[in-house]
Order: sequence, then C-alpha cells, then structure tokens
Amino acid sequence: TAHLAQLPANIRAKVNNHPCFSEDAHHHYARMHVAVAPGCNIQCNYCNRKYDCTNESRPGVVSELLTPEQAIQKVLVVATAIPQLSVVGIAGPGDPLANPRRTFATLDALSQQAPDLKLCISTNGLMLPSLIDRLCAYNIEHVTITINCLDPEIGAQIYPWIFWNHRRIKGRDAAHILIEQQQLGLDMLVARGVLVKVNSVMIPGINDEHLREVSRVVKEKGAFLHNVMPLIAAPEHGTVYGLNGQRSPTADELTALQTACAGNMRMMRHCRQCRADAVGLLGEDRNAEFDLAAIATQS
Ligand code: SF4
Ligand code: SF4
Repeated sequence: TAHLAQLPANIRAKVNNHPCFSEDAHHHYARMHVAVAPGCNIQCNYCNRKYDCTNESRPGVVSELLTPEQAIQKVLVVATAIPQLSVVGIAGPGDPLANPRRTFATLDALSQQAPDLKLCISTNGLMLPSLIDRLCAYNIEHVTITINCLDPEIGAQIYPWIFWNHRRIKGRDAAHILIEQQQLGLDMLVARGVLVKVNSVMIPGINDEHLREVSRVVKEKGAFLHNVMPLIAAPEHGTVYGLNGQRSPTADELTALQTACAGNMRMMRHCRQCRADAVGLLGEDRNAEFDLAAIATQS
C-alpha cells in the first residue's frame, strides 16, 4: 500500500514479510504460533485461564501446550510443508515473559536451527524491561504489547492483581506498576529498533473512551501499529468480564473507535485474534495438520 512505500527502507524490510504488521504481506506470508508458555503473572478481568491468553486470542480456544523441544520439531516440519512461513511467534497460552525458561529455550533453539525465520512474541509487558536484553539477543524484530490503559484508576477495573517481586499486588497499585513497566518496555524496544505493535482490548464502559489517548501516546513514543480488538464476552465459554459482565462492543462501535484512532496512528484492521497454536496464512488454521502425532511421524 502507498503508506508502506513511504517508510524508510530499514523499516520496510521489517514489515514486508510479517503478515500481522503488513496487510499486504498477510496474503503471501504465513505465521505460526508455538504454545510453549503456560503461566501468567497478571490477571485480566477478561481472561479465563482455562483458555489461551485473550490478549491475542479469541476466548474459548485451548491450544496444545508444547515443550520447547516439541515446538522446534513442529516449526521445522511446518517450515518444510508451508514454504511461505516467515514468522514464528510465542503468544501463549499464557504470557511468554512469565515463562522465561521455556520461552528463551525456544527462541534460542529457533535462532540456531531456523535462522531465516523471524521471531516475535506478544506480552502483557510486565516483565519486558527486565528481560529486554535477553529478548533482543535473538532475531526479534517484532513485539506486541497489550496496553489497555494509561490510567491506574481504569487499570484497577481491568486488572484485579499482578504478581511482582514474588508478591501479589492488587488494585490501583498493581495497575500502576503494570502501566509503568509497559510504557518503559515500549520505550526500550523502540530505542532498540524493534517494531512494536500495541494491542488494546476495547471494553465498553471501562476503557473505550480512553483508548484514543492510549493510541495517541503510544504513537508518540514510536509504536508502529495499533490494534484495537473487541472484548469478546462469551458466557458459554465462561468468559464473563469481571464481576460486572461487561458486554462486547458492537461492530460499529469498534469501527468508530478504530477510525478515531486512525486519525493519528497506523491501525491494524486485519487481526484475526489467532489461537496460541495457529499455523498458516492469517484466516486459515492448519494447526490440525501439525499436531504432535503428525509431527512425530513426519520428523
Ligand atoms: Fe490471561 Fe493473557 Fe491477561 Fe495473562 S495476560 S491474564 S493469560 S489475558
Ligand atoms: Fe497476527 Fe492478530 Fe493473529 Fe497475532 S492474533 S498472529 S497479530 S493476526
């Protein structure tokens, strides 16, 4: 698209074959998620821990957890079967940086055994500043941070607690720490030349008005792309929002907010809220072809 052509060459090179960062690329390049990260260090009111991390995935999906060794095997099999594979990401089923041993073992092996593949992660951001040097030691050009607010008062309505320095912290204090770490992490990634996508979950009555401010600030700090995703309230999946049971936004409300943010920020509108074990082009899910049994026979 025209605006991509205007980007500096070094940025264009990073965007061109990442299907999430470029709407054009998503027709031609495939991504896969490896679900190696089960734990999480915060609680979001929209998350039901039985399922994949809702920061990236739609609710109600359960990904098959892999060990780092199984993940590598799977990547190597998929890379042979799907030559358009350009990106391998870790997006759950919990938070990748809350599982540093498993996440870094996976990134380490991938960077050695599949050096042509780009690696990316998505995170709630709590551990970004403390782990950023380890993270950037790998071939990481893209990171997604889920940022739902900048204001701890709003944050307290989204995050009942975080786990920080071996302690559980609640309420406004918890939100304050999380927001601070997310913003610091964003600054540090931008300073290191990593392209940052910010995901925000639009929660009617909680942060819907506030997300324009989030968009403005993260753009100012150098985030590359903003992806506003709808809260998916699905009582049949046990995903009722917090205690109040907030509803999902309507399609019109979501589009209106995306358009309002687009006044000052590059917006992602092709996100599919993929599962933590998604495989293939965006919008197709070939994971079933590559379950553990299939990998065992093919590798
Ligand atoms: Fe759930 Fe993801 Fe939030 Fe952790 S960061 S509580 S896994 S939605
Ligand atoms: Fe890309 Fe969205 Fe899928 Fe993540 S959830 S891989 S950003 S399309």
